[in-house]
Amino acid sequence: MRAAAPAAARAISTWGPPAAPPAPGGAPPRTASAAAPRPAAASQTIGFIGVGNMGGPMAASLIRAGHQIIVVDRNPAAVAKLEQLGARAAKSAREIAETPGVSVVLTMLPSTEHVQDAFEGPDGVLRAGKLQPPLLIDCSTISPLYTQELAKRVARHRLAAQAPRTDMPWLAHAAPTPRLIDAPVSGGVLAASNATLTFMVGGPTEAVAAARPLLDAMGTNVVHLGEAGLGHAAKLCNNVCLGIQMAGVSEALALGASLGLDPKQLSAVMNGSSARCWSLECYSPVPGVMPDVPSSKGYAGGFSAQLMLKDLRLAMQLASATSSPAPMAQNVAQLYRTVVDATAESGPLDFSSIYKFIYQAKAPP
Ligand code: NAD
Repeated sequence: MRAAAPAAARAISTWGPPAAPPAPGGAPPRTASAAAPRPAAASQTIGFIGVGNMGGPMAASLIRAGHQIIVVDRNPAAVAKLEQLGARAAKSAREIAETPGVSVVLTMLPSTEHVQDAFEGPDGVLRAGKLQPPLLIDCSTISPLYTQELAKRVARHRLAAQAPRTDMPWLAHAAPTPRLIDAPVSGGVLAASNATLTFMVGGPTEAVAAARPLLDAMGTNVVHLGEAGLGHAAKLCNNVCLGIQMAGVSEALALGASLGLDPKQLSAVMNGSSARCWSLECYSPVPGVMPDVPSSKGYAGGFSAQLMLKDLRLAMQLASATSSPAPMAQNVAQLYRTVVDATAESGPLDFSSIYKFIYQAKAPP
């Protein structure tokens, strides 16, 4: 029978205190040694917009790989952390996009609205007078429908005159336009810290090839799925499954506790049986079953229930638009809505807190 807590779950983050929790979703977690400097591709000047739980350690990986980073974030503390590692701060996305020599702008923001603001808001990238970056990479988890529209609008903007580059062949065109790719991630904070993320990528092949050295500096798995938006589509499919899976694991472990079963022992049994899955094996929702996961730290950090609810809603919109049945996503979204409401005043908690707020909140006898 397999142990319930794999060694990877105890890995230590190199991205500043507090230690990052294991990864929600997909990429195989690695130890901290994976964060050692990797062979650097040619150094580039990169704008990074949104350096929170995920963007912070991702930007740190790019610094370790030898790139110059210019950051923008609404949260001054998040910016200060990157400045300590050698990044420069800018006032706005527009300022980054107007900075000569900036070859790439990356975004890692909470939602579609935030990404829209960063690209098309009054101080957004596409408002730049002389637009510098030939490559735009959105790593956030957002609506693929917006990404498709944004890609069309990006293609209407002309780049400022600049020297040709072999890695960005479209700069040799008569009136070059920027290229947009979507590259959402799986692997969570620990994988971001250890540069072991999985990237699910959509967009033109030449742009994906140009982005590859940067994605390789932040992750270990890059999958090109097709045109713009398909990366985001794949990420939402992953998170529908993750949200349902976490609810299912919580439901089974809560039933087990009611029947007098020890949650650690039950988890070990299930991890050696047909119910084995990531939420059970790497990210137990029951406090005390595994060390270092959010449930054992008051559900702090990790992947917030708000972000999970956002992803389930996006997935349901897509299901509706494509007439694809999504009854499970619908039911589980209601449960996460309850979790989010329960934490409205105290602040966001990890999505595994569904165990606490749904399955421990028993009706009075
Ligand atoms: P976060 O809230 O920790 O970070 C987002 C950052 O963006 C914050 O620092 C915020 O201040 C900043 N921000 C918001 N609007 C801004 C704007 N207009 N300009 C500049 N900065 C702005 O969120 P996170 O956990 O890092 O998640 C980011 C994205 O990654 C989300 O789309 C999420 O769904 C996805 N994701 C998260 C995880 C995870 O485990 N946390 C895993 C995979 C994917």
